[in-house]
Amino acid sequence: MLTYEDALARILRSTPAPRMASVPLDDALGLTLARSIRAPADLPRFDNSAVDGYAIRNNETPSQSWRVIGAAEAGRPFRGTLRVGQAVRILTGAQVPRGAEAILMQEQAERRGDRLIARQPTRPGQHIRRRGEDLRRGALVLDAGIMLRPQELGLLAAMGYRAAPAYPRPTVAVLTTGDELQAPGSRLKPGGIYESNSYLLTALIRQAGARAIRLGSVRDVPRSLERAMRRGLRADVLIVSGGVSVGDKDFVRRVARRCGVRQRFWQVSIKPGMPLFFGRCRRTMVFGLPGNPVSVFVTFEEFVKPALHRLMRRPWRDRYVTPAALAEELRPSTSRRTHFIRVRVGSDNGRAIAKPLGGQGSHQLRSLAEADGWIRVTSDDGPFAAGTTVMMKQPEAPA
Ligand code: AMP
Ligand code: MG
Repeated sequence: MLTYEDALARILRSTPAPRMASVPLDDALGLTLARSIRAPADLPRFDNSAVDGYAIRNNETPSQSWRVIGAAEAGRPFRGTLRVGQAVRILTGAQVPRGAEAILMQEQAERRGDRLIARQPTRPGQHIRRRGEDLRRGALVLDAGIMLRPQELGLLAAMGYRAAPAYPRPTVAVLTTGDELQAPGSRLKPGGIYESNSYLLTALIRQAGARAIRLGSVRDVPRSLERAMRRGLRADVLIVSGGVSVGDKDFVRRVARRCGVRQRFWQVSIKPGMPLFFGRCRRTMVFGLPGNPVSVFVTFEEFVKPALHRLMRRPWRDRYVTPAALAEELRPSTSRRTHFIRVRVGSDNGRAIAKPLGGQGSHQLRSLAEADGWIRVTSDDGPFAAGTTVMMKQPEAPA
């Protein structure tokens, strides 16, 4: 059976190269910039006042008093030109009028009618924000490949961009399958359970920065499944949950083949999540995740998410990077398998301690929610004595 490492490598190899697009700034948070950005104009675009006060023009011998002849506000420039001994009332962000030499801060000025008196000497150029002092037209501002944070989005807008050249969010269609599934909030029929995977998946997809499309839930009927899967194949990624194992009602692989999906692999030596299916249909990546909720979580995190990162040109790095000591002995089953184990994280003199939670079944959602860490171990390397150092990852904060 395919190993965890080989399965991940196959997925990454079959991830299509992303295409850049012009993404509206409001939707660009977290995306990767696809090309470098130069300043299209000076920023600030014009000399403007840094404070509320008065724009002044001195007499030849620096005087301490002026006549106020008008006003300049942000967005409402003063149209005239200042002559010696004249001043204009000016507010923060207003364009500095022609002829002005400095701004006298309101706190340092005294006004009597149209006369203005300075309480302190003024320095030429004081409190003027100069055109181009932040960015000169043509300057390299942002490098291709950076992640767009709120700061960069603000800067792009300040330069006049409405959209950013970026790798857009992939669309990820989510389809759940199973005769037993019912919508949360409905009255359960005998043998029915609430459909939860689509909620788990939709949240995981959004957390990964991609766009989730709900296809709903279908019964274990090949025709219904086929219709829904064909719709899902219009997305960049199609995720089907359930129906991918060896049961009599597990039709996903067969129907996928009928829809033109070429299988790249089926079954990986991992626990949970062994029956994972992966294939491609043209550019669409198709993941068949086993229906148990914890398998859904693990296979998404370990296989789908790295692919989504690659589709968005985000750097992908393994997150099992925190060494932790096992709180107790661990004996994973002997056949060569990679185990993903939910743990509680404690600490002992600054050293992380990982305590496997009770209830590690792939249907057990409680320990999924309770876990504040995951460890990854390969059974061939075990059994592991208490105190053994293992690699751990910690959950990500919501997007
Ligand atoms: P399957 O992979 O279809 O054999 O399903 C494995 C287990 O996961 C079964 O107990 C299903 O009832 C459960 N299951 C499948 N899909 C969902 C879902 N969308 N929400 C919650 N449980 C599910
Ligand atoms: Mg099923």
